[in-house]
Amino acid sequence: MAPVVLVGRHPARGIPVEVAIEGDRITRIRDQPDSASPPHLWLLPGLVDIQVNGYAGLDLNGPDVDPGVVTRVMRSLQAKGVTRFCPTVCTQSHDQMRRTLRAIAEACRTDPRVRYGVAGIHVEGPFISPEDGPRGAHPREHVRPPDWEEFEAFQDAAGGRIRVLTLAPEWPGALAFIRRLAGTGVVVAIGHTAAPPEAIGRAVEAGARLSTHLGNGSHSMLQRHPNYIWEQLAADDLWASIIVDGHHLPPAVVKTFVRAKGVARTILISDAVALAGLSPGDYDWLGLRVTLGMDGRIGLTGTPYLAGSTLDLAAAIPKVISFTGVTLVEAVTMASTNPSRLLGIESGILEEGGRADLMVAHYKQDAMALEVQRTVVAGETVWDASQEPH
Ligand SMILES: [Zn+2]
Repeated sequence: MAPVVLVGRHPARGIPVEVAIEGDRITRIRDQPDSASPPHLWLLPGLVDIQVNGYAGLDLNGPDVDPGVVTRVMRSLQAKGVTRFCPTVCTQSHDQMRRTLRAIAEACRTDPRVRYGVAGIHVEGPFISPEDGPRGAHPREHVRPPDWEEFEAFQDAAGGRIRVLTLAPEWPGALAFIRRLAGTGVVVAIGHTAAPPEAIGRAVEAGARLSTHLGNGSHSMLQRHPNYIWEQLAADDLWASIIVDGHHLPPAVVKTFVRAKGVARTILISDAVALAGLSPGDYDWLGLRVTLGMDGRIGLTGTPYLAGSTLDLAAAIPKVISFTGVTLVEAVTMASTNPSRLLGIESGILEEGGRADLMVAHYKQDAMALEVQRTVVAGETVWDASQEPH
């Protein structure tokens, strides 16, 4: 097979380079200072999204989820520069959650591309807070306390692929559960919690490593301090994942969170739901009437409440740059290198010998847009805008 050659600006150095790929590796990087490559065309590491509920009309938590849905969600995300992701299984009945986990595991078993693309499964719930506010949109009747046997049944259905589990650490028995879970190598995340502030430090001591969508899945009114948001923000051993669509967190909160955690401990997630990637309009979705706005906001029609996220990580990058003043390299680090480090997987990197999980994208700072032209996974072009019908 002829080597793949990509041209674009190197993210750290800013100059055009030519990258040759053979197999799944970058074999050579050469400076191309006189290249005719457009000035805004960049070569960037592929993005890694650790929280995806669905995309393009496809719901990973739907009652009729099958392995084909997992494959189609992955392909839709590849068009947005995402090279690996964590399908996210939310609070439901035990049987429904196991069905979903089995479908994802089956997709991984039968298709090597999906096996690579699924960096691990994120289970969000059912061991979360039953309180209104912290519980978010998770159905109250299926919220329950941590149960080791139930987790083992989930991991069994998932073929061992669960890599992140989000829970509320205030449940009785949660600390022993966190200790045991962390001991198996699963990333324990704090989220959808109503924990008293002092419970956060104990959860971190027990092995919790991540705050899931910090600042969301929380009470709308909180004691100003102390509270579980400050405690998580100040805990240096906790990474924080955040949704930077501008709806879930105001820009000032995003800026403050990124400054407090530092670029090195912040992870951008989409938390995208099935409506992500669809046209604006009114939809009947999961028994709810919702409105998807031109600005990507999904609201419960006629109310001020958010009903999910339509963000994708390519869109998150210019937004976090605009909200916080980080550089393009720092923004990509939060959406690629950091989630890979958290999961202990290899990420795409612009170095000779590095893994060829890459994207070629136009970064238009004034338009706050990152337009993905081409996505390469393990050296193979999986998306090419020039080959798509217009
Ligand atoms: Zn959530």
